[in-house]
Amino acid sequence: MEAHSVSPWVAVAYLIAGVCFILALRGLSSPATSRRGNRYGMLGMGIAVVTTLVTHEIASLPEILVAIAIGGGVGFVMARRIQMTAMPQLVAAFHSLVGLAAVLVAVAAFLNPEAFGILGADGNIMPVSRLEMALGVAIGAITFSGSVIAFAKLNGNMSGSPILLPARHVINLGTLGAILVLTALFAHSGAAGPGENPLFWIIVGLAFAIGFLLIIPIGGADMPVVVSMLNSYSGWAAAAMGFTLHNTAMIVTGALVGSSGAILSYIMCKAMNRSFLSVIAGGFGAEAGAGGGETQEQRPWKRGSAEDAAFLMKEAENVIIIPGYGMAVAQAQHVLREMADQLKKHGVGVKYAIHPVAGRMPGHMNVLLAEANVPYDEVFELEDINGEFAQCDVAFIIGANDVVNPAAKTDKTSPIYGMPVFDVDKAKTIFFIKRSMGGQGYAGVDNDVFYMDQTMMLLADAKKMVEDINKALAE
Ligand code: NDP
Repeated sequence: MEAHSVSPWVAVAYLIAGVCFILALRGLSSPATSRRGNRYGMLGMGIAVVTTLVTHEIASLPEILVAIAIGGGVGFVMARRIQMTAMPQLVAAFHSLVGLAAVLVAVAAFLNPEAFGILGADGNIMPVSRLEMALGVAIGAITFSGSVIAFAKLNGNMSGSPILLPARHVINLGTLGAILVLTALFAHSGAAGPGENPLFWIIVGLAFAIGFLLIIPIGGADMPVVVSMLNSYSGWAAAAMGFTLHNTAMIVTGALVGSSGAILSYIMCKAMNRSFLSVIAGGFGAEAGAGGGETQEQRPWKRGSAEDAAFLMKEAENVIIIPGYGMAVAQAQHVLREMADQLKKHGVGVKYAIHPVAGRMPGHMNVLLAEANVPYDEVFELEDINGEFAQCDVAFIIGANDVVNPAAKTDKTSPIYGMPVFDVDKAKTIFFIKRSMGGQGYAGVDNDVFYMDQTMMLLADAKKMVEDINKALAE
């Protein structure tokens, strides 16, 4: 195959696709331009796919079309069936497939280097290709096993609490060091014919193990960072595949996904008050025994009704709404917007406060509120609104829990300690919608806000409760 001789129009097509992806990322940086960004992304992907189909080299067109039909069919059925609340697991599952694909491409190139055009004149795989292959397989395997663990944690197949092995940092650093040393040895010495060097398989095994080891100690409030980090890894895995396949579009796209995912992880770490290095190193700072799930003592709390909430909010000057995962579960965003519309008619100022990790995926709340046509200028990030709770009449918490839990500020043993949270305790009145007093947030810890003097618990499904509030407001 003539993998290295890329025709100029293919290069131009891939360049245009790359520019579209950059414009897509730019568009996605603001809700107002995100639709345009998505269109650029679709256009770029369309150009890249058509170009690849036209210039296919390794597999025949019928083979590619059969693969697309099978993969596309499975993806279509999954996407139709998946609940919105299970999206994070789905994303983790997709990341694992990108990692697995990178591993399989590297294995194919290792076993049949001639087909990939990476055999040197001496009949051995070229050293630079061996290096690319080893790095590709390592990144792919880490992405695969890390994403499988993230899937299991998000899907509830595995406890969300950190699993802390003794001497885990020594084991992790040792395994990573071994992968790097073996990669250097594989690239520069020993047998180098097709499928000959056993070091390749040792690298694969160690990389699968390190992906697993890096993710199991991460729990509680740090999972969002893991999801975006695995997104970044999947980008680098795709870029590595691009090198093996000599496909510039994959290298560019992979690098864009990899670097934007890394930037997002960094931003999320800053928002969560976590050190980037400590999270990627796997559970640094997580203390053994701080798994949350403390036993609940009986403490007094007040139950409110939809009528109480409607009455007090109608009289309020300003209301800050804090949505969380429970709003997504209940799909209460539309009725919530209707509630805000009614309040505004009564002259009440309404703002929405969005925590960077509210829900189960980055931007989860923003997407739901945008779907319900909540005006963007009513939606505020944590740092822009947290100072306003002290002057706020009502904090209306709907399905949020961890992101308003003051234990993050005061309890050093809490798994969410250090994460910035909304200062809802400063509001004059707090309405807290959740279904039961027992159900805890993602981190599995009790929340002092339930028991505060100014808190009224509105125990019901979020959508049902807001519908009842809307009826009471209309009376
Ligand atoms: P939490 O998961 O802390 O709390 C959700 C709350 O919603 C619970 O109190 C639950 O109580 C309530 N709830 C669930 N279903 C309903 C319903 N149908 N109606 C009313 N209430 C309901 O949510 P937050 O958004 O506050 O916090 C997000 C957490 O998830 C953080 O710990 C974050 O680290 C983690 N996370 C975030 C990710 C991200 O990328 N954003 C990814 C992975 C994890 P009850 O059961 O009693 O109803």
